[in-house]
Amino acid sequence: MDPHSEARLQVVHPVLADKVRQMAATLLQEGIEIRVVQGLRTYQEQAALYAQGRTAPGSIVTNAKPGFSYHNAGLAVDCIPGVRGSNPWQPNWTDRVHGQLTPDYDRMVQVGKSLGLVSGADFASITDDPHFQMTGSFPIGCPPEPARDLMAQNDLKGVWAMAGLAVS
Ligand SMILES: [Zn+2]
Repeated sequence: MDPHSEARLQVVHPVLADKVRQMAATLLQEGIEIRVVQGLRTYQEQAALYAQGRTAPGSIVTNAKPGFSYHNAGLAVDCIPGVRGSNPWQPNWTDRVHGQLTPDYDRMVQVGKSLGLVSGADFASITDDPHFQMTGSFPIGCPPEPARDLMAQNDLKGVWAMAGLAVS
């Protein structure tokens, strides 16, 4: 994948990273070039983001408190397909029309799910089409309390082991 996507994949769970690379390779054969626009967001970064519009200047950008997003655990990525044929690559932000996934997003979601990833397109409350996560034994919604303590200490390997996704 492109260097920016690769840099983001370097700091998430290695199995998740490999699945995203596979997803990208499959989609590229079909003319869809995806990029990873968001990977790990540390607990501290999430705290700063959550403060925005609440206790810090700016407008509210997230409802996820630190530790409540799988991005904080290095177990989620956001991927965007490119506009077909764009050079340089341009993001295709049109994920849905009339509530239906557009063809390239639909295909991206299909391929991601076929690799065992959970797609944000299936979230019941607010769909999040670019979002893919791999959460092992953890619940789909958000990481459990003890995992949040480890995230606050930047112990991602500890979090992964707790989810049954230990890496050596
Ligand atoms: Zn996401």
